[in-house]
Amino acid sequence: MKPFAIQVHGSGIVGMAAALALSRQGLTVAMTPPAAAREADLRAYALNAASVALLDSLKVWSALPADARTPVYDMRIEGDAGMASALRFSAWQQQVRELAWIVDAAALEAGLAAALRYASHVEFTAEPVPAGLQVVAEGKASATRELLGVVFERHDYGQRAIAARLVASEPHQGLARQWFRAPDILALLPLDRPQPGHGLALVWSLPSERAAALLALDERAFEAELMQATHSAAGELRLASARAAWPLALARAERVCGPGWVLVGDAAHLMHPLAGQGLNLGLADVATLARVMAEREPWRSLGDIRLLERHACERETPTRAMLGVTDALLQLFSHPSPWAKELRNRGLGLVNAATPLKRWFTGRALGL
Ligand SMILES: Cc1cc2nc3c(=O)[nH]c(=O)nc-3n(C[C@H](O)[C@H](O)[C@H](O)COP(=O)(O)OP(=O)(O)OC[C@H]3O[C@@H](n4cnc5c(N)ncnc54)[C@H](O)[C@@H]3O)c2cc1C
Repeated sequence: MKPFAIQVHGSGIVGMAAALALSRQGLTVAMTPPAAAREADLRAYALNAASVALLDSLKVWSALPADARTPVYDMRIEGDAGMASALRFSAWQQQVRELAWIVDAAALEAGLAAALRYASHVEFTAEPVPAGLQVVAEGKASATRELLGVVFERHDYGQRAIAARLVASEPHQGLARQWFRAPDILALLPLDRPQPGHGLALVWSLPSERAAALLALDERAFEAELMQATHSAAGELRLASARAAWPLALARAERVCGPGWVLVGDAAHLMHPLAGQGLNLGLADVATLARVMAEREPWRSLGDIRLLERHACERETPTRAMLGVTDALLQLFSHPSPWAKELRNRGLGLVNAATPLKRWFTGRALGL
């Protein structure tokens, strides 16, 4: 079998982005073929500026259909003391064009798969091939990670996130809303698909039993629950898709590289979607890996452990910080005790009032 420079295992968004980014350096890439007939992913991702810049450099961003990506200009986060404890962000206040983009997951996957079909150095194979570097992007249940003997200790949150598409009677106006309702967390994200100006993507994280009960409801009853949970803030809400749910956990690989291999994306780290950062971290892994490979000394092979440790070292702090912040927020915002309620609502109010602190938080989340 002919040797390749790189083999990418897994053809999710992170794996496809890695294959494209590395092949653009002239490296030959073998990768798992993208799944042919799979149910469309109902999720929509909040992507930060760094992720958009990577997708743009891969010529994927501008090829996405216009209704598959919607800019977020404002963000409102409410605690369980209502508007009194709301935290508000605006692109204007943060001096950026938009705070984030909400992107249709299925359209992004299709866009990456289309770009890969035209990538001259990429070949699809499900077989193991000889390659200088194995990039493992198989997601949270990675079999290759297990074969490599890497420990991936999971802390199960006992929660599931329900995703669905909605149409609201009120226009979304580029506003993303999130309610921390202890113990559940509900987000309504503006997305012009399925209806320009009125489409919303729902992410509702709840204790698993409550999620199962909500999924068992018929459409009208589910909509009524949604209206109650959002205090009708977005107007009448109608389901415009099926509902799907994901179990939620926190995990981090005990090491992300070894001689000749590297873990990226959810294969390396897994987090709660409350901050919408899992894919952003995975795409940042890809951007860093591609840069480290591009800047390697001519005498170093692609699988050189010193090179891979440079990548791992760069990713260590942002990954650890994002996992820690997300987990701490979840503990604070899902705890039913009165002290936790007091602390979270005061905290939101304080951050809202402190412009430099708010700018700092936003900068981290926006990938600026
Ligand atoms: C409800 C929800 C909402 C989210 N919202 C956001 C958000 O707003 N913003 C954000 O940044 N992140 C978000 N995330 C996180 C995001 O979904 C993940 O971080 C991202 O999908 C990880 O991509 P990946 O390619 O690493 O893994 P995956 O998407 O899991 O892809 C891995 C791929 O590898 C394949 N595979 C597995 N094993 C093998 C094997 N042995 N051989 C070959 N192929 C294999 C799998 O079939 C799959 O196609 C959200 C997550 C959830 C659950």
